[in-house]
Amino acid sequence: MSDDGADAADASSPTDREYAEWLDALADGDGFAVVCPEGHGSLPPRRVCPECGSPELSREPLDETGTVETYSVVHVPSPRFADDAPYATAVVDFGPTRLTGVVRDGDAERDGDDAAPAVAIGDAVTVDIGERATDGERLVAFRPAAGETPAEDE
Ligand SMILES: [Zn+2]
Repeated sequence: MSDDGADAADASSPTDREYAEWLDALADGDGFAVVCPEGHGSLPPRRVCPECGSPELSREPLDETGTVETYSVVHVPSPRFADDAPYATAVVDFGPTRLTGVVRDGDAERDGDDAAPAVAIGDAVTVDIGERATDGERLVAFRPAAGETPAEDE
C-alpha cells in the first residue's frame, strides 16, 4: 500500500518552489491548473503536458467547488504523516484537472480513534491549504462545501 498521491509536496527538488507558489495561489483563492491546447489539465510544476507533451501550457482557474471522485483512509501513514493518521486522502475533480489532497472536516481530524472522513464519493468540497500535523508542512486540504449548493452547470 504505497499509493499515496498526497506525497507530491514531499519532492525536495528545485521544482519545490513552483509548487510552493502554486500553494500560495491556492491559499489566496486563486488556485489554477496548467492546461494544454488539447484541454489536458495538470498541476505545476510542468514544462510540458504530461498527457500529450505539448509545451503550450496556460493557466486556467480551478472550479471553486470540486466533486469527490474517490477517497481512501490511511491508517498506516508514511513517517511524514505520522501524527496525521488516520486521515483520508481524496481525488477531487476541479474542472480543468483533479487534485489529490487530504480531507479535513474541522473537528474529527485529531480525535485519535477512527476518524471517518467527512466526505463521500460525489460530495462537493472546497479546496484550501492545510497543515500536516506531523511537521506543519503545507498541503492541499479539502473541506466539505457545507451549506453550499454547488452550481453544477455541466
Ligand atoms: Zn495535453
